[in-house]
Amino acid sequence: MSSTETKVVFWGVRGSTPTPHPSSWRYGGNTPCVEVKTSPDTRFILDCGTGLRLLGNRWEEKSTEHGIDAHILVTHYHWDHIQGIPFFHPFYQSRNRFHFYSFQSKYLGPESLRKVLEAQVASPYFPVNLSMMTAAREFREISGGDQFEVNGTRVTARWLNHPQGCLGYRLDTPGGSIVYAPDNEPGVPEFDENLRQLAAGADVLICDAQFSPEQLATSRKGWGHSSWFECVKLARQAKAQNLFLFHHDPDSSDKMVDGYLLAAREEFKPSWAAMEGMTISLNEKGVDVALRDSRVGQRRRLRFSATISGIGEDGKSFEEKATVRDMSLHGAYLALTNRPALQSDVRVIIEASAADNHPSLLSLRGTVVYTEPATEKYKTGVGVLFVEDEDRTRD
Ligand SMILES: [Zn+2]
Ligand SMILES: [Zn+2]
Repeated sequence: MSSTETKVVFWGVRGSTPTPHPSSWRYGGNTPCVEVKTSPDTRFILDCGTGLRLLGNRWEEKSTEHGIDAHILVTHYHWDHIQGIPFFHPFYQSRNRFHFYSFQSKYLGPESLRKVLEAQVASPYFPVNLSMMTAAREFREISGGDQFEVNGTRVTARWLNHPQGCLGYRLDTPGGSIVYAPDNEPGVPEFDENLRQLAAGADVLICDAQFSPEQLATSRKGWGHSSWFECVKLARQAKAQNLFLFHHDPDSSDKMVDGYLLAAREEFKPSWAAMEGMTISLNEKGVDVALRDSRVGQRRRLRFSATISGIGEDGKSFEEKATVRDMSLHGAYLALTNRPALQSDVRVIIEASAADNHPSLLSLRGTVVYTEPATEKYKTGVGVLFVEDEDRTRD
């Protein structure tokens, strides 16, 4: 990390409620939490959704005796933005120090965020007492239009259009500018203008894209959220450099999010769909996006030839012969004479013919997730989900 590089990591990208379901695992089921690191010692956390727990675990792995000093910007008090607080281990270590920023809610009065935090761990809602949260905590009340500086990063807050209020944040860091607007419904001129100003020329615009444009126009109108199309319009008007669709609806499957991203890219090419583990690096050269290595657990080494076709960065389609060097596999459907027990282990060994005529064995550990009488006579249909395994396959 160069001295002027800023790193952004998405730890939670889902709106409203966590979705630990297979149809949404790829983008991820944790609610909003975004880490921004502007220098080795300067860290920000944007919102405290359930993704915060994972961030805490990561920081614990790397923690030093000096402790962590971090700035936590909370956009508003809806569950999906605060629910990770009790599960963030660094709050329970006295060597750490946290600076919290949020607005005074008319429902909670002064020190709203402190009250929210204390209520979350109050009896009978949580088994651990507040006195166990030994990290130093400072609370600062901010409001729309406020601006302040933290170690060379200028933070700007603006009101967004969302039930019970929500602050959007802009971080002008040494590496570039990041705008975080997770919950916002377009259509009210004053708030639309706020967001346009906040997003002006942003390198990274993280934007509420919960609903489809059709939902936003009909059944979800007035629910306080936006669509990929409104994000694209905003990105264009504000001349943002990169757009990240965020706060995916809990009922949006990965396939639906794929569709929103595809549609957004047709209108605004530098669009991305925020995904758990996605990392953005910002520096003087621009913005670089990387995804977490989500297929490592299922990866098996083998070599064989394949024909690959796709669309290049220049928009032109291509086709080429290539060597597959490893593969991640999710599952298979087998016709067996045996009938394995549900949730039992199976091993599947596949012989792939390699490019150089040496057989390449693919040995997969699976768990039985489904059995049924197969259409082939006397055979059982067995659904297998491939699970983590030591790598038994030779090149
Ligand atoms: Zn939300
Ligand atoms: Zn909300």
